[in-house]
Amino acid sequence: MHDATGLWHDIDRPSLPEPGTKRRGVLRFSHPALADWEWPIVVARGLADGPAVALLSGVHAGEYPPMAANIRFMRNLDPTQLRGTIVSLPLVDPPAFYSRSAFVCPIDGKNPNRCFPGDPNGTFTDILTSAIFTNIISAATHLIDLHCGDVFEHLTPFTICRGSGNAEVDRVARGMAEAFGLPYVVATKPGNAPLAGTTSASSAGAGIPAITSEAGGRGLMTEPETQMQLRGIANVLRYLGALEGEVEPTSGQRTFSSSNGFHTPVAGFWLPEVDLQQEVTQGQRIGRIENLYGDEIAAIQAPVTGMVLYLTSSPAVQEAGLLGSVGAV
Ligand SMILES: [Zn+2]
Repeated sequence: MHDATGLWHDIDRPSLPEPGTKRRGVLRFSHPALADWEWPIVVARGLADGPAVALLSGVHAGEYPPMAANIRFMRNLDPTQLRGTIVSLPLVDPPAFYSRSAFVCPIDGKNPNRCFPGDPNGTFTDILTSAIFTNIISAATHLIDLHCGDVFEHLTPFTICRGSGNAEVDRVARGMAEAFGLPYVVATKPGNAPLAGTTSASSAGAGIPAITSEAGGRGLMTEPETQMQLRGIANVLRYLGALEGEVEPTSGQRTFSSSNGFHTPVAGFWLPEVDLQQEVTQGQRIGRIENLYGDEIAAIQAPVTGMVLYLTSSPAVQEAGLLGSVGAV
């Protein structure tokens, strides 16, 4: 139903507009723990049948180019040119956005992208991820989850697809990741996906091909990375047959089979000594941790041979804190 502002209101499962139209609305969830919040949503429905794509951003709400790309793509989309449907949630974690929280939801301190498929009997983030998984992701045939480096991360643009062991799901996810068109793809093998609880791992586990894009970071709203994400969304929709036309090819795209995070043994002041996209060999010194007097208290080595995918850009690190990642072939 419409309210006085012309926004459509739905509870739990978004309803579809008429064929060939799109509709902005407000989504609420019936779980009492989520009653104080509402989620902006845009649903587009093509004239012809086709895939049901879920387009998410703001799972990490300090990641701005993905949110900008999601909003702009849906504003500019002509639904008469679409086959199938797109359900777009530009901001999955509103409490984190308005408090400018990196990684975690401030209500319970949990990282939503470690909580999927969620738990209706858990705390706020478990309940929210459960509501999103049940009502948005499970209702889709394909998932595009837009991310970038978080507020304290500097990264090389890449797209992740996680092996689920279901050959057909993995084939389509790999095709989506390559079509997105970022310069690097991280295609992890089944059983080699350490990040349980992500949108893409939980979707793949449910038989829904999914990708996670990564372009942008450090809390910045940047246009080049927004453009990369916009191009990626359109290319994946072409790949899936939801939009007319050929996928724009990406020359020189390189694929890694794993992203290998490395961590600090001690708290202190992190100073990387390598750049993004630099090739490193396993055991090579790639940075140091100093104390607050400037003494080196730990030398940091590359965990594997490969290329630097991302680095923690903040010098402030806790014991066992993540410092970056190396992609290995
Ligand atoms: Zn993220």
